[in-house]
Amino acid sequence: MKLIDVTVIGGGIVGICSALSLQESGLRVRLIDKDNPGQATSFGNAGVISPWSILPHSMPGFWKNIPKLMLTRWRPLSVRAGAWPNIIPWGLNFLSKGTEENTRAIADAMSLLCFPSIDLYRKYLKNTGHENLVKDSSYLQLVTKANESLLKDLGTQIRISKGANIEIIKGLDLRSFEPSISSEFEAGIVIYNTARTLSPGRLCTVLVNKLKAQGANLIKDNILKIHRNGETWFLKGKKKEYQTKFVVISAGAWSKELLSSIKVDVPLITERGYHVHCSKPGIEILNSVVYPEGGVIASSMEGGVRVAGQAEFGSIDEAPDLKREKTLIKISRKMFPDINLNKTNFWMGRRPSFPDSIPVIGSVPNQPGLYVNFGHSHHGLMMAPKSGEILTNIIMQKPINEDINLLNIKRFIK
Ligand SMILES: Cc1cc2nc3c(=O)[nH]c(=O)nc-3n(C[C@H](O)[C@H](O)[C@H](O)COP(=O)(O)OP(=O)(O)OC[C@H]3O[C@@H](n4cnc5c(N)ncnc54)[C@H](O)[C@@H]3O)c2cc1C
Repeated sequence: MKLIDVTVIGGGIVGICSALSLQESGLRVRLIDKDNPGQATSFGNAGVISPWSILPHSMPGFWKNIPKLMLTRWRPLSVRAGAWPNIIPWGLNFLSKGTEENTRAIADAMSLLCFPSIDLYRKYLKNTGHENLVKDSSYLQLVTKANESLLKDLGTQIRISKGANIEIIKGLDLRSFEPSISSEFEAGIVIYNTARTLSPGRLCTVLVNKLKAQGANLIKDNILKIHRNGETWFLKGKKKEYQTKFVVISAGAWSKELLSSIKVDVPLITERGYHVHCSKPGIEILNSVVYPEGGVIASSMEGGVRVAGQAEFGSIDEAPDLKREKTLIKISRKMFPDINLNKTNFWMGRRPSFPDSIPVIGSVPNQPGLYVNFGHSHHGLMMAPKSGEILTNIIMQKPINEDINLLNIKRFIK
């Protein structure tokens, strides 16, 4: 039997988009996931698809916010007790990135990945019958005290320099823009021309069905180890061993462990996040609404309203912090006083995060045939289609006219 061309390990949104792009370039693709594809982190996110989410988390002066983020009422940033030994070196690395020069360089790389996301999703969804899964929207950041310096910060200036249309709205304009928000918010910063998916989980399912219909080989197995013999890669799964010419690791937060089987170590950390999904909210949210003090984004989705976010550093296998459910419910009520929270689902996901907020995409030094596409942190939904396209161009050795140097895994390993 002829060897399959490329095997993608991990069927989150990043693996799914990689597989689609590779398939559409003519390769025979196998996608392996230990569970049902698209039902891990990519299932429960906040659904934002924005060309303007291009700012790394480590920005100049960010360190000054850390005590507030960790100690105030909603604790949008937290560290589980056992995670400190890993978080300290990672956090120092993270803080060292917070210069203006780095911020601008990383914003360029993030812009490359985020800018075409809405169009690429629309291209993938065309003729599936599910085109309405991606909806035009705006991104509204709530502000308790309005002041004129709100648009003067470095982040907003970078966004504007790249073409974002941003303004402050107040009073009646704000109320008619997003009628359900609490009157305690004086203003909102609106970023126009973004989009959101009405169901991140179903978006994955639709794209997986498309992959399958186009002939991809979908397998449910847990890959435990990988190794190479000559030009063939061997993937040892719990059920059986698979052989492949090219292998792509896109297993989100689990990618670090897979790479460790060939002794490659990267500073990837699990940044857990949560959501509550209210199935009978009694309100509609028209935009992606951000409440920075709570560290959450809220929007209406299929099946109700979802309030998602917060950053909790913890080990990949540690159980969710159940107290977060109450916190998210309280935050939801603060943002939307009329919301009905009688029926809610609680969920936790694992963001795969590097200190510089950008993923690794491309080949791995001294490992011919091995490629990576992971580490999309807070932006995996919106970065996935372009990440898959770049990866495909690298594998197919097509010319790449964009600067992708910052996305190379060589920034972490020799
Ligand atoms: C609360 C929250 C809100 C967010 N909001 C947004 C947002 O609004 N917009 C945005 O762009 N991003 C958002 N994100 C980030 C985004 O969800 C992630 O970046 C993205 O889902 C990562 O996708 P992934 O494919 O890399 O990982 P995952 O979705 O986690 O997929 C990894 C897959 O690999 C499989 N796998 C793992 N190990 C193995 C193995 N050994 N063998 C086989 N299969 C394996 C898993 O089963 C899983 O299906 C949010 C994240 C959270 C937590």
